[in-house]
Amino acid sequence: MANRRFCVGGNWKMNGDQKSIAEICKVLSDAALDANTEVVIGCPAIYLMYARNLLPCNIGVAGQNAYKVAKGAFTGEISPAMLKDIGAEWVILGHSERRAIFKETDELIAEKAEHALAEGLKIIACIGETLEEREAGKTNDVVARQMCAYAKKIRDWTNVVVAYEPVWAIGTGKTATPEQAQEVHAYLRKWLEENVSKEVSASLRIQYGGSVTGANAKELAKKPDIDGFLVGGASLKPEFVDIINARK
Ligand code: PEP
Repeated sequence: MANRRFCVGGNWKMNGDQKSIAEICKVLSDAALDANTEVVIGCPAIYLMYARNLLPCNIGVAGQNAYKVAKGAFTGEISPAMLKDIGAEWVILGHSERRAIFKETDELIAEKAEHALAEGLKIIACIGETLEEREAGKTNDVVARQMCAYAKKIRDWTNVVVAYEPVWAIGTGKTATPEQAQEVHAYLRKWLEENVSKEVSASLRIQYGGSVTGANAKELAKKPDIDGFLVGGASLKPEFVDIINARK
């Protein structure tokens, strides 16, 4: 197994309130979590500070989005500087819901990534194909196009984690098989080796996301190029602990 620290992100999306967030933070605080796994919680912006104060310091918190400049007349947006100011160290960018619902383009997402990294945040950079694209045999082309946009803007990949999330698997209960996920992860490593560098290909962590549960995480985690998960629905439940501990 390569020397990449397993990294599990929870993406709460637009879910939760003070009561339920306090409950899940207590579950995470009380659990025996694998110390070899890095854990990050993507929390709704309005509850980030609240969650930060409730979670142990070895669990990072992430914004689920951030704009591409530090401040200004951008009503409704938040900046990486603001995330850092309230104790968030991470931001999730390019999630398929931002791409599909909010029409974010590869270019805008890459600009956001460039700015967030320049501000000192770590990023979870999401990519993934739709069902239509997979069925048309275009999976590799799509993830290569999305990676290419990031690569045009990212010089230093140290603070980047890529999340490969096939859109057809997100929130559908239809998980990619470990073999399907591994195939794309291996392709991404080859792409990185050919288009970025051997070093980045070997060191960059690539998470799988899409209907990961306590029941399927262990098998997925055995695959050599899967370095963690980005988890939506199950990250709001106690089974998130089993996902964090998938390599234990
Ligand atoms: C996600 O939102 O990134 C995700 C993978 O969701 P789910 O685990 O619910 O499929």
